[in-house]
Amino acid sequence: MKKIDLTGNKFSRLLVLEEVKKINTKRTRYKVKCDCGKIFEVNGSDMKNGNTKSCGCYRNEKMSNVGKVAKHNMSFHPIYKVFHGIRQRCYNSNDCNYHNYGARGISVCDEWRSNFNGFCKWAVDNGWKKGLSIDRIDVNGNYEPSNCRWATSTEQSRNTRKTLKKHQVLTIRNLYKIGAFNQSELAKIYNKDSSIISLIINNKSYYYAANY
Ligand SMILES: [Zn+2]
Repeated sequence: MKKIDLTGNKFSRLLVLEEVKKINTKRTRYKVKCDCGKIFEVNGSDMKNGNTKSCGCYRNEKMSNVGKVAKHNMSFHPIYKVFHGIRQRCYNSNDCNYHNYGARGISVCDEWRSNFNGFCKWAVDNGWKKGLSIDRIDVNGNYEPSNCRWATSTEQSRNTRKTLKKHQVLTIRNLYKIGAFNQSELAKIYNKDSSIISLIINNKSYYYAANY
């Protein structure tokens, strides 16, 4: 097969300067100059089939663009919206929900507060799905791994203060104490999650005073 001299040709960013003397190789190597100015050697076949398009600067540019896009899109990710939302409610006194959160002493744990990656990891490891919202098991408790879970809006609305009055909380405790019902029966009767009933029974929470 007749060899074609590629000198002077341009492949993507590479201008072929000259053929390099062969040393123990069947392939023809060329000295090339990249658009960015870097001069290096490359196999002619790699240039022709497009495997090598530049000195590496092309790939680097592409990668840094991917990085930028990913970082930019992150702020539109549904988990980021949740992350942003909880911080606003707890720390931005101008937020319309602040009075139910920050003003009541609800805070975001250090692990999450300024660490979206940490929050994101917890979210994914703990059953986050699109459409679910973050739910505090104890509505008087903070945003922290041990007190949060992902819930549908129906599950979450069960835990709002509108549904339990102080006298109901006291009744639940009494009914449990006298052995009239067990926790899961009480959960059904009061249309609450059994984890809520458990907190109430253990005197850990009064739900009448809390908001979701
Ligand atoms: Zn280059």
